[in-house]
Amino acid sequence: MAELTSAQIVEKDLQYYLPTFKRFPIAIAKGKGSKVWDADGNEYLDALSGIAVNNLGHSHPAVVEAIQKQAEKVLHVSNFYTTEPQARLAEALCTASGMASAFFTNSGAESVEGAVKFARKLAHSRGRGGTVIAFEKAFHGRTLATIAMGKKKMQRGFEPIPAGFDIVPWQDMEALQSAVSKDTAAIIIEPVQGEGGVFPVDADFLKELRQFCTDQDIVLIFDEVQCGMGRVGHLFAKDCYDVQPDIITLAKGLGGGAPIGAILANQAVTDVIDFGDHGTTFGGNPLVCAAALATLNELNNPDLLKRVRQKGEYLRKAFENRQDPRIKEIRVMGLMVGIEFEFDTGPLVQKMMELGVLANSTAESVLRLLPPLTISEDELQTVINTVFQALDQLEDDE
Ligand code: PLP
Repeated sequence: MAELTSAQIVEKDLQYYLPTFKRFPIAIAKGKGSKVWDADGNEYLDALSGIAVNNLGHSHPAVVEAIQKQAEKVLHVSNFYTTEPQARLAEALCTASGMASAFFTNSGAESVEGAVKFARKLAHSRGRGGTVIAFEKAFHGRTLATIAMGKKKMQRGFEPIPAGFDIVPWQDMEALQSAVSKDTAAIIIEPVQGEGGVFPVDADFLKELRQFCTDQDIVLIFDEVQCGMGRVGHLFAKDCYDVQPDIITLAKGLGGGAPIGAILANQAVTDVIDFGDHGTTFGGNPLVCAAALATLNELNNPDLLKRVRQKGEYLRKAFENRQDPRIKEIRVMGLMVGIEFEFDTGPLVQKMMELGVLANSTAESVLRLLPPLTISEDELQTVINTVFQALDQLEDDE
């Protein structure tokens, strides 16, 4: 079969793919380390990592080898049986997180949905209702239950939206306490809000929230789908805050590019789950677990995690030192970076792409950078230079 050009692939996509994504008109054909190439051979520095997925960069040799070896053994077995990669991954994640058990899913939204089910089961066993409280500007996914915890804009057109979810203002303890009743099963929070614009939670608020949930017998869920797996310079974002939740949801960076999510549950949650309470066909199959195990082995490395924190600080200083009046605020947590501007950052991201760097615009006015954790300092400097070059060119275009 002859290989298609980038334009030919884009044309097919426009004709046949359901138009849910507002895509850039390039087709990526290859990736290695921090770089990707389109089908025509044009090179890009990837400062987005598939939205915090390729934390080890593209096609990391350890992940590729694990996938190749597993593919030769067995690709899939039903969850009626277990496999070595799945059992080892569950053990490794529990050991690393201090949680009691793991359940594997196929995506972040699925991890969050499962977490809600598990939290409700525990709440009901304690005589509580099933309502879940989330925070404004949160993003937990695109399924029906997860959009019920998200922005109103995502819900429009998809009514009826499932009941049993409340939204309270971000970091507002008073509002949270008045929203809580006997009906409340759980509170879900991203320790660092991602899609909302990269907002790390205040450490004191998170500690207070932990205490409040403990006092009230409410399940505390940390959605670490985006901020987990080394992204913020610790294996789990909870470790930046030294706060232990009852449930952690993971996905994105967990599989090093293979589609796998996880729900990690503490002992109390684990104790109320019975056979048949939840299930999945593909979730945690040996192929993706082998990829995740190799990824975890690489990420769970204090030197690598320290370097992530150092690179984050390097980036913060580089932006701060420029004292550029166009920048309103710089929010950095490891290599999870949000740069707030006064304007829509869509055109800035477009310009950066034309200059060879992939980034992302979120919450309209935020430029989000999520480079591979393995990015070199030279590459990081190229990303920084490209932001300013793109800003200048945009001004010249006006
Ligand atoms: N939770 C958080 C914090 C996320 O950032 C995302 C995706 O961006 C999700 C859940 C949903 O993950 P997925 O797109 O894999 O369903």
